[in-house]
Amino acid sequence: MDGDPGALNDIRQTLRRLAAGMDAERRFVRAEEAFRKVLRWMREHHEFFASSIPLIASENVPSPAVREALASDLGNRYAEGYPGERLYAGCRWIDSIEMLGIELAKEVFNAEYADLRPISGVMANLAAYTAFAEPGDVMVALAVPHGGHISHGKREWGGTAGTVRGLRVERYEFDYDRFNIDVDGTRRRLERLEKEEGKRPKVFMLGASVFLFPHPVREVSDLAKEYGARVVYDAAHVAGLIAGGVFQDPLREGADAVTMSTHKTLAGPQHGLLLSWERYAEDFKRVMFPGLHSNHHLHAVAGVTIALAEALAFYHEYARRIVENSKALAGFLMEEGLDVLYGDLGFTESHQVLVDVSRLMGGKEAEFLLERAGIVVNRNLLPKDYLLKTDYRNPSGIRLGTQEVTRLGMGKEEMREIARFISRVLVKREDPEKVRREVAEFRRPFQKVHYAFSNATEAYAYVSIT
Ligand SMILES: *Cc1c(COP(=O)(O)O)cnc(C)c1O
Repeated sequence: MDGDPGALNDIRQTLRRLAAGMDAERRFVRAEEAFRKVLRWMREHHEFFASSIPLIASENVPSPAVREALASDLGNRYAEGYPGERLYAGCRWIDSIEMLGIELAKEVFNAEYADLRPISGVMANLAAYTAFAEPGDVMVALAVPHGGHISHGKREWGGTAGTVRGLRVERYEFDYDRFNIDVDGTRRRLERLEKEEGKRPKVFMLGASVFLFPHPVREVSDLAKEYGARVVYDAAHVAGLIAGGVFQDPLREGADAVTMSTHKTLAGPQHGLLLSWERYAEDFKRVMFPGLHSNHHLHAVAGVTIALAEALAFYHEYARRIVENSKALAGFLMEEGLDVLYGDLGFTESHQVLVDVSRLMGGKEAEFLLERAGIVVNRNLLPKDYLLKTDYRNPSGIRLGTQEVTRLGMGKEEMREIARFISRVLVKREDPEKVRREVAEFRRPFQKVHYAFSNATEAYAYVSIT
């Protein structure tokens, strides 16, 4: 073979092919490992939630029918535009579902216009900013430590209103004693702004992520009228309560539009929804498409439609029970030695309870210890953190929500048990692992979703089709 370049080349080629084959083999093994890992981690996630106490105020567990919608083929299709004015074929059943969803949304919230196309609460807000304001316009919103959401935020903080729509965000004056908007203080603040800079507000944003008491929608909409400005009410957290006829009725109280996420107290799939009046219908249609969306996640639209039917049938009872449970939980936590805020105002009128843990530890440590005990909450800035300028990563409080445990069928007795578990971890400093075993035992009988037409499948059952 010596001196035969052809044979040498053949050998080189064979070696290269072998090496490529081994690379492909290794790549396949890695890919398959990743595939199995994801499936295993999803299963473990389900097992964790089936045996824990879920108290994150922005989450919920949807009914099995909503989960079925999410697994359907609808999520693989397109249907651009408003139903009846579509730009894609194959939409016959999708159109029927979305039109039914629109009708149900109008009925549940008593609205003239409903749009199921926002794919999230943030996108619904962006739609309202786009319809009601131009870049450079002034919007009034709650600061984040007062309960405002990042999507209402200033440019300096990377908030959606400031960064994406280019709005200038001015904050409401806040009344710490009532945990609510100070309308008179805000009026004076806006008068100063006009005198000093000649700027007048175009949009008043209401609604919040930390939302204990109804907002003064009527007073704010009177103020907005003086400026010819629009009022948007962000119902992301309280949509299910509004659907159930508790908390407040923002459209009747003066809101021009209501935006929401559909997965918090409303307990649908992760999606968004916008409500408004007939006089703004054409503006919103244009903003949603072609402005903000191409596809609008049709499996989620079907899920929202199912959730709205559930709301129509069951939420008067569900919403009432949620608020009863949060008041009860707050009271029991207080008895167990925790500093629950706003006891003088009855603690809360919503699904949320705010606890100051700073006497015991930071909010970050509280969240961590409770998670090890199988109690899922989130740390939260409290109004006092705004004055103390506390680092948002370790705020003074935790925020609890009763909407998910209520959906699992829990009542007052269970709220007492939950308060005890929390106190054992945070006040008595018991070993979280020990509490975790008892938490799992406590959760065992609560495996079905309530306030739904069917609960044939357990709330956190992992459904495999692979
Ligand atoms: C959760 C929340 C949103 C954002 O909702 P997404 O559906 O996650 O986009 C908007 N506004 C408020 C007040 C919220 O709490």
